[in-house]
Amino acid sequence: MLTVRHLDAHYGKSRALSDISLDLAEGEIVGLLGRNGAGKTTLLRSLVGLVQRQVGSLTLDGVDISGWSVDRLSRAGIVLVPDYRGVIGALTVEQNLQIAERRGSSFSLHDAYVLFPRLKQRRASSGAALSGGEQQMLAIARGMMCGPRVLLLDEPTEGLAPVIIQEIVDALTKLQMEGHRLSIVIVDQNIDVCLNLAGRQYILELGRIVYEGTSAELAADHDIQQRFLGVDHGSGH
Ligand code: ATP
Repeated sequence: MLTVRHLDAHYGKSRALSDISLDLAEGEIVGLLGRNGAGKTTLLRSLVGLVQRQVGSLTLDGVDISGWSVDRLSRAGIVLVPDYRGVIGALTVEQNLQIAERRGSSFSLHDAYVLFPRLKQRRASSGAALSGGEQQMLAIARGMMCGPRVLLLDEPTEGLAPVIIQEIVDALTKLQMEGHRLSIVIVDQNIDVCLNLAGRQYILELGRIVYEGTSAELAADHDIQQRFLGVDHGSGH
C-alpha cells in the first residue's frame, strides 16, 4: 500500500537518512527500531513531508505521492503522531478531538471515547491538565480523527508507566483488529512494545536500514538485538 524506495534526507550538509526502502501493507503494523539518533524520527517526518527528502519513488496505493505537499499528504491519510504529542493545552480534551475531525473520517468522537474511556472521563479537562499517558491517548485519538490510512507513531510509550503502556498497546491492537484499513508504523525504544504490536521490524543505524525481519525472527536473534539495539540478554542460557 505504502512503498518507499531509495529515500535520502539531509539536515543542511549532513546526511540523516540514506537509501531507505520500506513497504507497508494495508492493515499491517511495522516496528521501526534503532538507537538514539539513528534517524527514526527523521524518517517518520520525511514521510509526511516535514523533512526535505529525495526519493527514488514514494507511492500510496500505487499513486506517486513523492511531490505532494504536507497538507496533501495529510489529506491522503498519512498522519504523524509526534513524540511531543502536540496536545493543545488551552483546549479541552473534547475540543482537541473536534478540531482534528475530518469530513469523511470513519472514526468519530464516540469511537475515540470507546477506544480510550479515560478520555471520556476527562472530556472537559484542559489538555494542560492531563497526565503524560492521557496526553498520549489524546494524541493517538486525535490522529485517528483525521481518518488515517497510515498512522506514524513516534515513541508513543516513552516515559509512561507499564499499566498505561499496556492500555495503549491494547488500544492499538484493537484499532488494527477493527480494520479501519489502517496501517501503522511504530517507533519505540521499548522493543517489547514493537515486538508485541508489529508483525515485521526494521532497524535503523546511522540513517540506514540495517535489518529487516519478522518479529519472531528478531525476537529470536539476540545478536542483532545486542548489536543494533544494545539489548543485553546476558550470557547465561
Ligand atoms: P531519538 O530516538 O533520539 O529521537 P532518532 O532515531 O529518532 O533518535 P533522529 O531524531 O531522526 O533520530 O536524528 C537523526 C540524526 O539527525 C541525528 O544525528 C540527529 O542529531 C540529526 N538531527 C535530527 N533533527 C535535526 C535537525 N532539526 N537539525 C539537524 N540535525 C538533526
